[in-house]
Amino acid sequence: MKSLVIIPSPDFRRELETESGERVSSCIQCGKCSGSCPVFAIMDLGPRRLMRAVQLGLREEALGSNTLWLCLFCMTCSSRCPMKIDVARVIETLRHRAIKEGVRPADREIALFHRLFLAEIEALGRAYELGLGGAYGLLTLRPWTNLREFGAMLRRGKVPFIPERAAGSGPLFEKARKAGG
Ligand code: SF4
Ligand code: SF4
Repeated sequence: MKSLVIIPSPDFRRELETESGERVSSCIQCGKCSGSCPVFAIMDLGPRRLMRAVQLGLREEALGSNTLWLCLFCMTCSSRCPMKIDVARVIETLRHRAIKEGVRPADREIALFHRLFLAEIEALGRAYELGLGGAYGLLTLRPWTNLREFGAMLRRGKVPFIPERAAGSGPLFEKARKAGG
């Protein structure tokens, strides 16, 4: 039987706390963050376990978690934490760290979605749902996946058929890039 080797990195928690400005070590594992997260069901760790991984210095587990990529940054976890930890800020810091260190999510489709989304934001300054959904469907070889939903959204005027460009987005994007975003 293959044995599981877990190598904790003692400095990881300290670095993360410095970078995020949040005291992850004060997390009491109450689970309010995970219990209120709208996408918890599809995360591998979820916010509570992610905080625990950081506390224990489990660098690989934390940086490789799909939670970093599925988080919507809705801030519900941050507003509900009894220890006043901005959990979303910690997740954002972990995501930046993963990008910087070249750690890709295990699920390749999540990485693809993020690349397409960012390319669209860079080109238009805003999301263009039809283009994003179409490109993602084609590249994952499931072009018909969201067709019915797109049809309904178009009929109700929820998404535009022709992409619209946000004015003044170029310089903003450039600024974010320079800031390391
Ligand atoms: S809500 Fe706060 S204290 Fe509770 S598990 Fe989440 S991060 Fe930890
Ligand atoms: S900010 Fe992210 S982790 Fe927190 S509740 Fe929202 S989706 Fe879940």
